[in-house]
Amino acid sequence: MNILVTGGAGYIGSHTCVALLEAGHSVSIADNLCNSKRETVDKVKLIANKEVTFYEMDVTNAEAVDVVFQNHKIDGVIHFAGLKAVGESVELPLDYYYNNIVSTLILAKACLKYSVNKFVFSSSATVYGDNTVPFVETLNLLPTTNPYGETKAMCERILTDIAKANPSFSVSILRYFNPVGAHESGFIGEAPNGIPNNLMPYVTQVAKGKLKRLRVFGNDYPTVDGTGVRDYIHVVDLAEGHVAALDHLTEGVHIYNLGTGQGTSVLELVNAFETANDINVPYEIVDRRPGDIASCYADASKAKRELGWTAKRDIIAMCRDSWRFETNSKE
Ligand code: NAD
Ligand code: UDP
Repeated sequence: MNILVTGGAGYIGSHTCVALLEAGHSVSIADNLCNSKRETVDKVKLIANKEVTFYEMDVTNAEAVDVVFQNHKIDGVIHFAGLKAVGESVELPLDYYYNNIVSTLILAKACLKYSVNKFVFSSSATVYGDNTVPFVETLNLLPTTNPYGETKAMCERILTDIAKANPSFSVSILRYFNPVGAHESGFIGEAPNGIPNNLMPYVTQVAKGKLKRLRVFGNDYPTVDGTGVRDYIHVVDLAEGHVAALDHLTEGVHIYNLGTGQGTSVLELVNAFETANDINVPYEIVDRRPGDIASCYADASKAKRELGWTAKRDIIAMCRDSWRFETNSKE
């Protein structure tokens, strides 16, 4: 299939492009590089040893999107492009609602115009809010604590309504848990701008000596050791989940958790990182981070049952591959 990957120069998008190319699909990327670099597209081509068409463009620009659909006979769209920093979304709600929702509207409209029936959307476990774990797809969604999470819940609703009104439009909504790790080549991975918000990139920068010590946000949660529990998933497993979702896409709306089903606490992750890489990660316990929940992990059985997909890489592989990418990067 010819797949249009929006946000394909980004962290999850670039790994998914590699997986798509390796599975025999053709890929066009549309990315405005607001949170990524052009050279990542070259790395994708290098790893997969295949060509990719790259459009440096904003997917909130309807005319530019139309040109892409005219230029290619597109069979499916995977829509990763979006702003994703939770804290920033509280400061810049208009930018987040505009970028994340308008891009989805414009792409869905182009799909209907050009009879492109396959649409895969990047959602997030954040839409579950503070439900009881494990999170299963049938749960009622609870309010999230930030505009970013609301954009995901709204886009899910918008795509569901469009699919209801257009029965041939097939939508796969993928709710990611906590993507970490990097391609094992060490060529592509997560390279956040500035001081990272997320745990794994923070840990790798502490290990490298760029940051002094990890601040563990709270050790009084009702969890195994009091620190927050999350379902970390290797980004290459996540990428493969997209290929499976595309291959199995049938009419209607299908929602899948992409997680491992395993919870790991902050201190367990730090220990795994130290063991995997034989390196010390200094840390201190500080107050809880506002808006955090105690535990978040998936019931991952639906994706296994319907897509034949499960995550294969364990926490040690995640830590090893994250560290390899960090040690490879120049900054
Ligand atoms: P990322 O920032 O690395 O990738 C997003 C890409 O989209 C970037 O390359 C950016 O330049 C591009 N982009 C943003 N707005 C655009 C626009 N208007 N037009 C064109 N390109 C645009 O983020 P990621 O971690 O790869 O996340 C991909 C998707 O998955 C996002 O929608 C994100 O919300 C979602 N998601 C991410 C996580 C996570 O922890 N990384 C978890 C759940 C969901
Ligand atoms: N966390 C932490 N220190 C950090 C960053 C994160 O202790 O510098 C904790 C956070 O409180 C949560 C877990 O690590 O329990 C995962 O946080 P992250 O921001 O990576 O993901 P999210 O909270 O979005 O699931």
